[in-house]
Amino acid sequence: MSDDSMHGFGPAKRSILVVEDNEINRDLLCALLVDDFEVITAENGLVGLEKLREHQEILSLVLLDVYMPQCDGFEFLRRRAEDEALANVPVIVTTASDSLDDEIRCLQLGANDFVVKPYNADIIMNRINNTIHLRETASIVNQLTWDDLTKLFNKEFFYRHSEDALTSAPDKRFDMICSNIENFKHYNDRYGRATCNDLLRDLASNLKQTLPGIVAGGRIGGDKFAFLVSHRGRGWEQILEEATKDLAIPGIRVKFGIVEDVSHSLAVSLACDRALIALDKIKGRRGTNVAWYNDELHQQQIVEEIILETMEQALKDRQFVVYYQPKHDLRTGRTGGVEALARWIHPELGFVSPAQFIPVLERQGYITQLDMYILDEACRELKHLEELGLRPVPVSINASAYDFDVPNLVQHITRTVDGYGIDHSLLHVELTETAYSEDPETVARALKDLRDLGFCVELDDFGAGYSSLASLNVLPLDVMKLDMSIIRQATALNDFRIVHAAIQLAQLLGLSTVAEGVESQEEVEQLKSMGCDYIQGYYFSKPLRSNEFEAYLAEH
Ligand code: C2E
Ligand code: CA
Ligand code: CA
Repeated sequence: MSDDSMHGFGPAKRSILVVEDNEINRDLLCALLVDDFEVITAENGLVGLEKLREHQEILSLVLLDVYMPQCDGFEFLRRRAEDEALANVPVIVTTASDSLDDEIRCLQLGANDFVVKPYNADIIMNRINNTIHLRETASIVNQLTWDDLTKLFNKEFFYRHSEDALTSAPDKRFDMICSNIENFKHYNDRYGRATCNDLLRDLASNLKQTLPGIVAGGRIGGDKFAFLVSHRGRGWEQILEEATKDLAIPGIRVKFGIVEDVSHSLAVSLACDRALIALDKIKGRRGTNVAWYNDELHQQQIVEEIILETMEQALKDRQFVVYYQPKHDLRTGRTGGVEALARWIHPELGFVSPAQFIPVLERQGYITQLDMYILDEACRELKHLEELGLRPVPVSINASAYDFDVPNLVQHITRTVDGYGIDHSLLHVELTETAYSEDPETVARALKDLRDLGFCVELDDFGAGYSSLASLNVLPLDVMKLDMSIIRQATALNDFRIVHAAIQLAQLLGLSTVAEGVESQEEVEQLKSMGCDYIQGYYFSKPLRSNEFEAYLAEH
């Protein structure tokens, strides 16, 4: 062993397996090779196969004699070909001179090269080095090209290959199909890596077999695949459903997004992004597994890009305005509070709804700036009500999960409210359970601090999606807001039992209740009879501009 390799530097010697029954020949080969290679020997084909199996990971080459007892070279080659991993190790066959037939047979059985006995040192070393070099180059190319697990192209190569296909056939029509497994992370945790790898492998292979007109298929993310295919009209649903049947994990759902007529002017990565945007829109929706990218999504995306580019300036320019939606107090029949809701009057887009801009601001880290701006405006409005001689009502602001990452959130809120000389009991903070689930301890601590300082905390959207009773136990709260979806559903089914149970639960925990999104007299009556405290919804009022709200408050 050289000094270098002893210290772990320099390349380790490559290993060669010599399969040869003739002892003299074997020793001869060993002597030739031993300076440059680690040599493993086998005295017949059977032992040779065993050693090949045992050392397949480290073997760079097999030198194989043809005529041996027990299992000859032909049989060795035949059995090696049956196992993909074994077939990966190249074989040079050593043959007697003038046996062209043997050479041809061996090459047909997958041998890579041959050398003729008696051995010529130069020839044999050159052929060995060439074969090893070829195989290692191919393996590097493979690593650059293929995803080992799924045998699809890797992302970079998929993009490159697809782009070539698009440019070389500008008149042909192509579609891009991307797939994503729903809740893959959850399955990974639950079933383990091995099973999930099986799943990915099966899905990739099913898709390869079932999709008609595949030009290229790639793994573009952990559980995301992409296929460039020849264009075909609808009918994809059945094909894709067929491809996702009988997967390793029962009940798993695979969603697909399709971009039709991908042209070479659209970058392939962008086509994939769009397919994934379409796919995202049907996330969690049962029964719908295929979605197409369309004009509406395209418009949405353009709006999102404009939002992204202009939000920072908009915050500076105070383009956001606050609308106020009253909460009706069922006991007193008067206005018992108000929620501050952000609106963006955009110089280019006009009126933008928070459903559009809040998620973008959250993703980009601007949401806390907005929330603190709304807080400031809300306090200013409370001050203004006082100046107008109107009875002040508590105003609630919405807090995003990200707000709680700000270390001095509570101090900032306190300083703002105190700056306007407003009583702490007049400020409520609404937060959703999703905010709580991100970092329960930090959120619970901040809420406790807020309550200790005399502010009120409202749990928003109770009953929407992921309500967990655990959070009710742990969170310091004053108010439960029932999400409008459970009110809507109760009305549709004419069954208010769930709503009733939620109100009773709140009462049990000493929380007051606000029902959101109430639109009809009937809903008001039902909620009143169940002991609900406050009602917020179009039935009483839509969110109002500040001067409209002031007029409303004067009246109610
Ligand atoms: P949210 O906090 O649940 O607000 C209630 C939403 O329901 C408001 O939509 C309101 O206009 C609407 N709504 C109220 N009554 C009714 C009704 O009777 N029927 C119907 N169909 N809808 C009703 P909006 O203003 O579009 O706000 C959407 C969401 O955006 C809010 O949901 C809130 O999560 C978020 N948001 C709004 N302003 C802010 C803000 O300043 N900061 C943060 N972080 N989020 C905000
Ligand atoms: Ca709210
Ligand atoms: Ca809500």
